[in-house]
Amino acid sequence: MPSSTANPKASPPQIIIKKTTLDDLIQALQREGYQVIGPVLEQEAIVYRPVTQLKDLALGWIDVQEAGSYRLERDEAQRFFAFTVGPQSWKAYLFPPREEIWKARRENGRILMEEPETPPRLAFLGVRACELAAIHVQDRIFLQGPYVQPRYARRREAVFIIAVQCTRAGNTCFCVSMGTGPHVREGYDLALTELEDTFLVHIGSEKGAALMAEIPHREATQEEVAEATRRVDAAAASMGRTMDTTELPELMRQSLESPHWEEVGKRCLACANCTLVCPTCFCFTLEDVTDLTGQEAVRVRLWDSCFNQEFTYTAGRPIRVSIASRYRQWLTHKLGWWVEQFGVLGCVGCGRCITWCPVGIDLTAEVQTLRHMYGRASSPATVSR
Ligand code: SF4
Ligand code: SF4
Repeated sequence: MPSSTANPKASPPQIIIKKTTLDDLIQALQREGYQVIGPVLEQEAIVYRPVTQLKDLALGWIDVQEAGSYRLERDEAQRFFAFTVGPQSWKAYLFPPREEIWKARRENGRILMEEPETPPRLAFLGVRACELAAIHVQDRIFLQGPYVQPRYARRREAVFIIAVQCTRAGNTCFCVSMGTGPHVREGYDLALTELEDTFLVHIGSEKGAALMAEIPHREATQEEVAEATRRVDAAAASMGRTMDTTELPELMRQSLESPHWEEVGKRCLACANCTLVCPTCFCFTLEDVTDLTGQEAVRVRLWDSCFNQEFTYTAGRPIRVSIASRYRQWLTHKLGWWVEQFGVLGCVGCGRCITWCPVGIDLTAEVQTLRHMYGRASSPATVSR
């Protein structure tokens, strides 16, 4: 029963769709010209890839995550979104790992610049609360600072966001501590909460309301709304990790000369995994490539990492030679200097850097060690769960 009365500016409408109706949603988005990107199973992990129908989604899987380990198990309850976040984040679509910035070719003695391609209209299906927060952190960096990234801006404008509220937390998750989840608060077009045979849908924008008008749905009962809240609250109560965020920038500044960085440096492999999986890390490098005939040149932007020695290569030598100094840079930037630069912490508590660190380095544990060393240990009241 399509509705045409949804108005996200009034109290957010909450409606119910059958699980199979997700297929109608995907088809409606495609009719609107969106390429739908959703969670699929690939190489024994959940990653975000183009989907064209319901059965492309990774139905019936849960992830088991720990520091340095990730595996999938069958979900007896056959849920669509019982897993949490995998190795890939939406950053890969808004700020691609490799992108041509400009391209030029020589023609009849003149240099011709190629027009940049128009980015596709993408619909993100399954954006978790911490990931929405990460997108907003990158918005501050790429859109709200002194320099606007036009490519990011074009991609971001064209995105339709279907969020999913987590009803199960992972062992490495700590979004509650960071105030970013698991309840989805804003910045989405539609938000789903998975119930037994249905989804509760919150409408978050005019675009979302217009799309839902095309989809069979009914109004949610109070019991269904309460049940959805209970499920997300249960996920919040079962977070695998916590981080006390009290005066983190002050702690980072106080610990700049700490011997603890050397201790972490002995464990860290400087593999850069943590920065590549992190949904907020944004460092990049530029490479200019010419073809062998000298007729074509292209400038390519590639993800880089503060863990790479060449990252600080300046005037003939790298600045941060030791691994300890690179780990210190990463953590103090995320939890300290980001606040001065962008007004937010650089961590949203997704836990990816803990899971995908091959030696299981856990920033929540490192922060706790620094707190003990500098007399800032958390009291139970300051550690949120
Ligand atoms: S620092 Fe780690 S936990 Fe925080 S947002 Fe990045 S990957 Fe997630
Ligand atoms: S902290 Fe872990 S993931 Fe990050 S660079 Fe070191 S070893 Fe690699």
